[in-house]
Amino acid sequence: SKAKLFDEKTDTRTSFQDVAGLEGAKEEVEEIVEFLKNPDKYTSLGGKIPKGALLVGPPGTGKTLLAKAVAGEAKVPFFSLSGSDFVEMFVGVGASRVRDLFKQAKDKSPSIIFIDEIDAIGRARGKNNITGSNDERENTLNQLLTEMDGFGTNTNVIVLAATNRADVLDKALMRAGRFDRQIYVDLPDIRERKEIFEVHLRPIKTSETLDLDFLARQTPGFSGADIANVCNEAALIAARKEKKAVSKQDFLDAVDRIVGGLEKKNKIIT
Ligand code: ATP
Repeated sequence: SKAKLFDEKTDTRTSFQDVAGLEGAKEEVEEIVEFLKNPDKYTSLGGKIPKGALLVGPPGTGKTLLAKAVAGEAKVPFFSLSGSDFVEMFVGVGASRVRDLFKQAKDKSPSIIFIDEIDAIGRARGKNNITGSNDERENTLNQLLTEMDGFGTNTNVIVLAATNRADVLDKALMRAGRFDRQIYVDLPDIRERKEIFEVHLRPIKTSETLDLDFLARQTPGFSGADIANVCNEAALIAARKEKKAVSKQDFLDAVDRIVGGLEKKNKIIT
């Protein structure tokens, strides 16, 4: 199957307004937005636009969201692939998918390529290779490196990749002219959790004025994805009770439910 192209007609554009908190990360990608909007301005003095940046941070913290927002803000097409799609692919398929992805993105440049879970293909080569079954992954990784090196300096395609395991990545990926910038996307602090609640409460009908500081205090360790879940779950809990609006208690019940889910997940890991 072809790489997924962001469809402007069916998808509403993601913007920085949808990304709460993450001020530092947003500031760093702001520059990428500027490059994409106006590539000639930056190359006219002989400068080279960066080819790639690595978004590093725990699951559910908004890496995909941020990458989509870059494309949305710059009004350029967004092409994405997930590293996990490449697991168990037949020989040759991974490399040709990568080639295809870069070709589409170049044809539509300026554009963004987003590779989620890059660690699935980008782990250091020659390690954990007891069975020899990693050959296909290595081919895919080599193709990715080839494509990034093959970009002319004025290709105007910027590759963003996400990982929560930057430590396991092949160092070749981080070399100059590849993913030579790392942008940290951390779990939200209490102030950021409040802002994330604000974003995800927008579509929700509430029955009382909610104390967002209180909700932020009730959710230590939650990611943005967890908070989005809480808001959605609260609306479903209220609907199940045939209520016309969502109350503070529904939110607290939703928090309990998500905490329960998180504890279960952690038990499996440890
Ligand atoms: P993963 O590593 O699991 O792929 P991710 O870091 O890419 O996770 P996203 O997929 O971007 O995380 O986040 C999932 C959802 O959580 C988003 O679509 C959004 O609804 C919500 N979310 C996460 N972070 C934020 C944030 N900073 N502001 C607003 N919403 C957020």
